Amino acid sequence: MKGRILIHDLDEGMLGNTVRLYGFIDSIRKLGALIFCYLRDDTGKIQVFFDRTSAGDEQYALAESLKAEHIVSLSGILKNRPGEQALGTDKGAFEIEAKELKVLAAGQTPPFEISKTEEINEALRGKFRYLEIRNPAIKNKIKFHALVGRYIREYFYSKDYLEIETPYLIKSTPEGARDFIVPSRNFKGQFYALAQSPQLLKQLLMASGFEKYFQIARCFRDEDLRADRQPEFSQLDMERAFVEEDEIFSEIEGMFSYLAEKTGVAIETPFPRMTYASALEKYASDKPDLRNPLFIEDYTGIFADLDMDMIRNELKTGSRVRGIKVPHAVSRSQAKKFEEKIKAHGGKGLIYASRSLGETSFTFSKYAPQGFIEKFNLSDDESIFFQISGRDASMLNYLRTLLSEEFALNADGLKFLWVTDFPLFEINAEGVIGSSHHPFTAPADPSDIFGNSKPLTAIVSKAYDIVLNGTELGSGSIRINDVKVQRRIFEHLGISEKEQKERFGFFLQAMEYGFPPHGGAALGIARIAAMLEGSPSIKDYIAFPKTTSASCLMTDSPSPVDKSQLDELGLDIKG
Ligand code: ASP
Repeated sequence: MKGRILIHDLDEGMLGNTVRLYGFIDSIRKLGALIFCYLRDDTGKIQVFFDRTSAGDEQYALAESLKAEHIVSLSGILKNRPGEQALGTDKGAFEIEAKELKVLAAGQTPPFEISKTEEINEALRGKFRYLEIRNPAIKNKIKFHALVGRYIREYFYSKDYLEIETPYLIKSTPEGARDFIVPSRNFKGQFYALAQSPQLLKQLLMASGFEKYFQIARCFRDEDLRADRQPEFSQLDMERAFVEEDEIFSEIEGMFSYLAEKTGVAIETPFPRMTYASALEKYASDKPDLRNPLFIEDYTGIFADLDMDMIRNELKTGSRVRGIKVPHAVSRSQAKKFEEKIKAHGGKGLIYASRSLGETSFTFSKYAPQGFIEKFNLSDDESIFFQISGRDASMLNYLRTLLSEEFALNADGLKFLWVTDFPLFEINAEGVIGSSHHPFTAPADPSDIFGNSKPLTAIVSKAYDIVLNGTELGSGSIRINDVKVQRRIFEHLGISEKEQKERFGFFLQAMEYGFPPHGGAALGIARIAAMLEGSPSIKDYIAFPKTTSASCLMTDSPSPVDKSQLDELGLDIKG
């Protein structure tokens, strides 16, 4: 016998039968002698009506006391709904003539209307997140997130990957972000860290002889959060032994093909690949949005001929003139408007050239020698916008986005890209050298890290990012499997031998016993879900997200703990 029926299960064959449904009263209204309400369950909504003669006085009176969001069970006769208006439900063609009603929970009226949660401020929605989720539009995002996780699992199972859990309480081995630390009760004054990722553990699994590992792993990173980050999130974490980049790429592309097939979106594989250096040169970004067809070209050589000291002086300092060609002519005033936007964004003056009806206007035409303008190779109805910049070319990235938006040039769809050959090291804002991914990434040529022929920041690694529509979905690398290389990388990062032993001793020792060549990747699941649905926010896809200050408005955490708990841990709060 069939179990409980959900709204989604109702079909023509049940017409005229008595059915029992469970759910929430979505809305209710009285119309003459009839009470109409919508019943909502996890799968849809259906209209229910109570007629005094058919339901009886007692049931009718009970129905009169119903309020939105009461939780009920009701039974009645499934009927065809006259007029077949859909009214937001896929079962709009049916309705139920109620015979029996049980109120299972007559809750308080919620602080906001469930169907209008998007109009409510974030603080209130956060506090009552469980009520907000009752709104099917919100709930569907969480369902989609869950489905993406399920399809990812299905895919990796089908490829014979083993799902192996790794601990969350681990040794503090920071990977770039700050650790969340957890005090030990047994060893006072000592701490675990919540894993930032299973990075070292998955590499150790390769050392144990597993060939193919994956896990949907929770990661914890105590970062100052940007709008689209969470302090804890789940990622698809995978690793394979005896591989090079190509195999990892095709595994991940296969995963996206499977996801696309299951969720009904269109993607093209294989994904294009671009080195980090060419991404910066062509798009001034290491995560270019390839829906935008515009790209950057270098015009420094041409501008060197301009009879202008200002330009000559800029070029002498190593600055370059780079420009973006757009398939539209612009007027002087239009170009001025773009310039204002660039300046408001912190950029310098915008130089432009535009050709219309065979005539080219150019910001510095006064200084242009004979034949200069022709070198831009402009066709009719084309313009170029130039920026002069040194190493920091980020304004060009902004300009590229701005121009594409202004002229509505972005293509639709999902544009994936592998960005490869990242630098092994980078210098952060404080001038400190760090890994551009993490310290376990293999250099493209190990001899680079032993010699002195290249500056550290010029050394290329076997790290890659996967980018979708200008958003980084994840990253990975081929890893180091030679302990000498690993120690040398630590040295370059300024990690002393003593510190190496304290922090990574277990890992280096394991490497002494031999690591197979291996590599892998990790991709955020909520971000994949959000991007597949074209949504800018991952927060909506997480059942109970945290705010940008990493607090939970619903449970009011973090919060103080009892003095006795602190005592047990041997902790005292300063100040
Ligand atoms: N552990 C890295 C991360 O979580 C990904 C990887 O290299 O596999 O970002």
